[in-house]
Amino acid sequence: MTLSKRQQEMTKQNYIAETEQTLQYTIAEKVTQLFTPSSHSVSVESEMDLQVNTLVNDFLGEINTNTDVDLNALVSKFTDSKVPVEPYNFDSYVEYLANNVVAHSIRTSSPRFIGHMTSALPYFVRPLAKLMTAMNQNVVKMETAKVLSPYERQALAMMHRLIYNFSDDFYTQHIQNSQSTLGILVSGGTAANIIALWCARNASLGPKDGFAGVEKEGLAAALDYYGYKGAVVIGSDLMHYSFDKAADLLGIGMHGLIKVPTNCNNEVDLQALRQAVADCRAQNLHIIAIVGVAGTTDSGNVDPLVAIADIAQAANVHFHVDAAWGGPLIFSEQHRHKLAGIERSDSVTIDGHKQLYLPMGIGMLFLREPQLAASIEKSASYTMRKGSFDLGKRALEGSRPGMALFLHAGLNLIGLKGYEFLIDEGIRKTQYMAARICAMPEFELLAEPEMNLLIYRYIPEPFRGLVAKNQLTEADNQQINQFNQRLQKMQRQAGRTFISRTTKTITCLGEKFSITALRAVLANPLTTQDDIDAVLNDQIQIASELSMSNSLETAENVA
Ligand SMILES: *Cc1c(COP(=O)(O)O)cnc(C)c1O
Repeated sequence: MTLSKRQQEMTKQNYIAETEQTLQYTIAEKVTQLFTPSSHSVSVESEMDLQVNTLVNDFLGEINTNTDVDLNALVSKFTDSKVPVEPYNFDSYVEYLANNVVAHSIRTSSPRFIGHMTSALPYFVRPLAKLMTAMNQNVVKMETAKVLSPYERQALAMMHRLIYNFSDDFYTQHIQNSQSTLGILVSGGTAANIIALWCARNASLGPKDGFAGVEKEGLAAALDYYGYKGAVVIGSDLMHYSFDKAADLLGIGMHGLIKVPTNCNNEVDLQALRQAVADCRAQNLHIIAIVGVAGTTDSGNVDPLVAIADIAQAANVHFHVDAAWGGPLIFSEQHRHKLAGIERSDSVTIDGHKQLYLPMGIGMLFLREPQLAASIEKSASYTMRKGSFDLGKRALEGSRPGMALFLHAGLNLIGLKGYEFLIDEGIRKTQYMAARICAMPEFELLAEPEMNLLIYRYIPEPFRGLVAKNQLTEADNQQINQFNQRLQKMQRQAGRTFISRTTKTITCLGEKFSITALRAVLANPLTTQDDIDAVLNDQIQIASELSMSNSLETAENVA
């Protein structure tokens, strides 16, 4: 029996429809299964866990800081912009991840990766990360977080107490009072600095008589009402660039961020700071805040916080301390004195994902005055109702994860004594490295380290005599700068060890020199003195290869 053409066509269409149905069924089943905690998918999940654990262990077990793969080759793997139509299965996706992503990720946890503020993590964060994502609490409001809110408030209060050390009564009164805010947990130091200045702006240009405040009427109206010509924030020229973002966002513009020169210890020049305050007053500019840096990002130096507190107090201006990096020195008996004056600040930024050894996404802002954050409070009819316990009402961000889990765990599992050990060790190793650098003719130390950041540079042979006699010319410095740039890039590319690079402006006899500096960050508890030696020796080896290729190039040029 033969089918007519029409019959053939219909059969084909039925077939297609049926196949599509089966396909859709499989997809529905497959996707639904991803969400179903049946005993079947639990075993699937533990199988997935095993596979991921293997990736994690391979990744963390590697001592090299990177693969030497060429960046362009990596980029070319990620040029397809179409979403896959069919869901991948997990096994093949893990294989894809292993080969294309994990293999080429930076081993920030390597004891020889000592160039950035991102470093090794204690292992308890990994199982806790699973718990946090499994619970998927949204801390913006009680209805999606409940216990996470008081739990977070407790962890923040513990940190607040270390900074400000108020009385038991103070903490009893405020720790779980929905109208008080001792701290705000955010994604990072950038957001914390922005919120600090936001609070300072809104509180200092707040509602008065008929005026509804800068929050409602905007900056132009506020300045007009209060009779100012403009508004500024003052700090040192080594303030983190998050303050540029804050100045931009708060409507004072980056020119409204006044950057006072620093002295040769990378600390704000107090005379110049006093002058800046006086100049602003004379020009009728409103000073929103004065910023002190407690641990500059480049070299970890701390501004004279007590003196800045005096200046801010005399001028009746909000005093903010950016201790994103250096804040955790409060845990150390031996080094806490370097932060003296921080307790007189109105607000403090500390990053949990730096020296508290927690995963990224834990910035914190602490407020001396528990009502200050009321100046940024917002509410919405469906959530964050007025007077509620919802943490999202005094925040920059909306939905956010229960990162407090890591902070609370770190404070309990590492504790005061544990953090003290970590801080002291980092500083001790930095002093070891500084001593090694001073003892080696190949290197020059560029600043005495105050904490666990160190800046230095490599000096090519022909310049060593001049360095000793302090006779380098501008042109010499430029050549040394170029050499150090190439050295750092080659070291990064080779991927055995890692040190970062920065530019320092050094004032010498009234002249300004721009110096390329190598920058070490000693923040991995597993970094040993041998690792430090290995990093320095790696640099010496790369430098000798560089000098040889340099002389070859010169020879070729001559030929
Ligand atoms: C790291 C850092 C910041 C910014 O913090 P993020 O967490 O990267 O947003 C701000 N200030 C200082 C001094 C820092 O070291």
